[in-house]
Amino acid sequence: MYVTIGDLRPMRDGAWVLMAGCNWKCPYCFERDILDKDLCKKNSKCKVVHVQELVEAILKSGAKLVKIDGGEPTVQDRELEMMCQYLKSQNVGVQLCTNGSRPEIVGDLLTKGLVDWVTVDVKAPLDNEELYKRMTGGKGSPQPVRETIDIARDKAQVFEINYPVIPGENDKKEYLTKLAKDLYYCGVFTVRGFDKRRPIVSDEWYKTKQVIPHAKLKELAVAARDAFNSVDTVRFISHEGEEEV
Ligand code: SF4
Repeated sequence: MYVTIGDLRPMRDGAWVLMAGCNWKCPYCFERDILDKDLCKKNSKCKVVHVQELVEAILKSGAKLVKIDGGEPTVQDRELEMMCQYLKSQNVGVQLCTNGSRPEIVGDLLTKGLVDWVTVDVKAPLDNEELYKRMTGGKGSPQPVRETIDIARDKAQVFEINYPVIPGENDKKEYLTKLAKDLYYCGVFTVRGFDKRRPIVSDEWYKTKQVIPHAKLKELAVAARDAFNSVDTVRFISHEGEEEV
């Protein structure tokens, strides 16, 4: 069994796997060169590797936590489950990053005890269908994301929400307030400013956008923090660095 993997990158305390393929087409996506599995096979940045081979490389690196990201990892659900099984059998922790479009896959992995930490990328308030569509290139909807959130909040050891801020799209303070009220509880809430300096970002859409100032992101993070009923950590990441509020 083979799986297309975007990359295996070392992190301070673990490893980071980027799985190729995604069912959405967000115009601001940082990893757009691995969104299409078939194109990825021709891309020098990507490799096709056996799951076991990848896990062996992870174990050799001494990683105790693996962040599985993408693309959208649940698109390769069988390979994802196999990788999580191998990792958990070796007592390696698993963080799954997902766009929330496939709650049944996330729920199944959590029920089987194959994932410890779930990070759901939330693109807009969960009642804003129109903005969600726009943010995901016409492909996404908040309904499955809401279901994924309910499952992850209930079953994951660490439940994290990542909110990517795109200027002129989802950067209104009231959006953050609405989302935090709706979420009610969150383990880690991360407000992430888009970074124009990332080398992949080159299309016309992006060129019209400005980097979001550190102070503006802080304002959004504080607005979210104040609207939660309960939250353990709220942080924001700008081009100047990361800060907790
Ligand atoms: S859901 Fe994530 S990986 Fe997929 S297109 Fe959007 S930002 Fe990129």
